[in-house]
Order: sequence, then structure tokens, then C-alpha cells
Amino acid sequence: MQRIIIKKGRERALINRHPWIFSGAVQIMPDAELGEILSVYSYDNRLIGYGFYAPGTQIVCRVFEYTDTETDVLSQEYWTEKVRKAYDIRKRYVISEQTNAYRLINAEGDFFPGLIADVYKNTVVVQLLIRGTDKILDFIIDALKAIGFEKVYLKAKEVAGRLENVERKKGWVSGKTGDTKIEIIENGVKFWVDIESGQKTGFFLDQRDARMLIKQYSKGAKVCNTFSYSGGFSLYALYAGAELVHSVDSSKIAVELIEENLKLNNIAPEKHQSYAEDVFKFLKNTENKYDLIVLDPPAFAKTAKAVPNATRGYKELNLIAFRNINPGGIVFTFSCSQKITRDLFRKIVFGAAADAKRNIRILHQTTQPPDHPVNIYHPENEYLKGLVLYVE
Ligand code: SAH
Repeated sequence: MQRIIIKKGRERALINRHPWIFSGAVQIMPDAELGEILSVYSYDNRLIGYGFYAPGTQIVCRVFEYTDTETDVLSQEYWTEKVRKAYDIRKRYVISEQTNAYRLINAEGDFFPGLIADVYKNTVVVQLLIRGTDKILDFIIDALKAIGFEKVYLKAKEVAGRLENVERKKGWVSGKTGDTKIEIIENGVKFWVDIESGQKTGFFLDQRDARMLIKQYSKGAKVCNTFSYSGGFSLYALYAGAELVHSVDSSKIAVELIEENLKLNNIAPEKHQSYAEDVFKFLKNTENKYDLIVLDPPAFAKTAKAVPNATRGYKELNLIAFRNINPGGIVFTFSCSQKITRDLFRKIVFGAAADAKRNIRILHQTTQPPDHPVNIYHPENEYLKGLVLYVE
């Protein structure tokens, strides 16, 4: 196995177990290919760990194992064990008779840079984010099989112009194939998940806990669920006895999914109305006032450069929600932009509250659920933040 050697004085990040090695920290680059597994050594010849190589990029190596003991990272046993450890957490804390959809592997959060794996009932949808995980896909498929998953579907996730993008696009990569439209259950609520043409891997698993929380506030309420996608928050609110729910999403496909999900759960049609519209326009033009509004927009800031514009977008969105909420109403407001910190998000919402001139209290602060764990050495993985607000 080829070695990558870290410069003297640049081991700090590695001592702190950060999974990324930047090119400036490297003393000697190996003569290896994009995606190859390397052993990582200090300048004085001590083993630090193992990682995936990406020559010519800024993050030149992504470490998946920190160890000072030689380890056979090219064996099936190694990868099966890694996947099994991730599965154990989900088995203990997430999977139940009421929930069979969850994130099984959360990239660096599970010490598995470059891999996302989401489970929908008995199908695993994988996203390979780097060439390194593309190269070991057979190990991954066999590891999944060893823990009982035989149907594995690949869904590409591309970042524009990125050298590390994988060449495979989408489709079944396991021997067995299955349906690409899967009925799942989450906290007792049923959903159709379209793994082929849905957004992300098909469902927004990261809002499971927040969706559970909305039940506490929904009884008898008139609810507006914006950026509703397939109706996650809407259905939970209806289950909990909301009087009426409006779901707003600009995607027609999303609205069709909501309609199917309402039927799947036998919701009375008069309890719900979908709008395939832009949320900003909808909230500005509506005459309705609501008791509960959910704001769960897509990431407005995908890069650091986009933060100022995104900040304005979040502020405007929260402000128009505060103008449409009844006294004593509740706003669930979220940001999934990794570049917008929890602190900044709270300041933005503060700014909107001040402009709306309403008294507002924070009742809950939410984040991603335990199947989206954050590696303590890699805080970059924490992206989802939410506030549940009481608006006087
Ligand atoms: N809350 C959802 C996930 C939201 S994802 C859940 O729990 O499943 C964000 C959604 O916002 C996507 O469905 C996307 O189609 C929609 N969207 C993006 N921009 C929009 C806009 N300006 N107006 C309305 N919907 C928008």
C-alpha cells in the first residue's frame, strides 16, 4: 500500500482526528491513483491511519480509520465491521415497528467519508460522494448483504466540476433488484418514497424528530407547511388532529406525492389543500392566518460566498411567516445550510422578529436525529438547525 507522509508540525489536525488532510500538510505525495486507499504516516515514520486519496484536489486524503496499528483495510471483514457498527446504533435507537426508514451511514459522521446510505424498508440507497468509495463499492455491497440488505440502489450525487465525482450514475448495483417506489413507515405515518426520481435519496430523513415534535402543537390548529416536499410535516400534523393543513411546494412532483401520501394514510380530503407555488409569493399573497407555520426551505447557502444572500432570504421568509401567524401561534423554522451556523441562524430569526415587532419566545431548538450522527472531530457534518417559536 502506498504511503502519504505528513509534514513535520502539520500533524495537529490529525492528532485531533479530523478526517480531512489538506494538500499543504503533505510532505511526500504517493504515486497513487484517484480513489486509492493509502496509509498515512507522520514525517518520523509513525502510522497515523488510512484514507482515500484524491491527488490534485484541496482535500488530498480523507481518513476513514485512525490507528497506530497496522490494519487490513483491504479486507471484506474490515468494511463489514464498519457497516455493522453503524447499523448497531440505528438498531438500538432508531429502528422500530413504527419506523423502517433511516440513514444507515452518514459519511464522516460514521467514519465513512464519501458514503451516504439510506434505508427504505429493505432497500438501501447509496450515494458515493468520492472515487474512494466508488472503488470499494463491492466491499460495501457485501457488507450490506452481511447485515441483511440484498437490494442496493445507487443514486449519484454530483458537485459541479468536482474531480472526485463518480462516473456511475444510478441504478441497482446489487444482484437483486426491487421497486423504486417504496412504502415506508415513520413514527407510524406511512409515506411513498420514490428512490429513483425523488429528491435526495427519496425522503428527508433528517427531519424525523422535528416532525414528531410538531404533533404536540397541531391539535385543532390551522397549519401552513411550506417547502412541504412529500408532506412530512403535513401528515404528522393531520395525525395529531390539525383542523386544516395547507402544503406549499413549487414542485408539481412533490405535490403529487403529497396527494398520494394523504390517500395512503386515509386522510379526509377536506382536511388538506396543496399549493404548487413559490412559498414567498404564497405567504405574501395569502389572506389566511395560521396557528402553526413550518418553514423548511432547501439550503439557501451551498457555499460560503452565498451566505449574505442566503441570510437575506432566511430573514425575509421568517418575517413573512411572522406576519401570517395568529397571536399565540407557533413557527417551526429551519435551516439546513451547513455554512449558516446555529448562532447566525438565530441572529437572522432575531432580525426578522424585531422587524415584525412581535414578542417571540424560543420553545425548542432542534437538530438532526441520531441516525445523522456528527463525528465530534468533524463538526462540519452538523448542518440542520431549527427553532420552535411561540409568537404572541
Ligand atoms: N419539509 C420537507 C423537506 C423540504 S425540502 C420534508 O419534511 O420532507 C425543500 C423543498 O422545497 C423541496 O421539495 C423543493 O421542491 C421546495 N422548494 C424549493 N424552493 C421553493 C420555493 N421557492 N417555493 C416553494 N417550494 C420550494
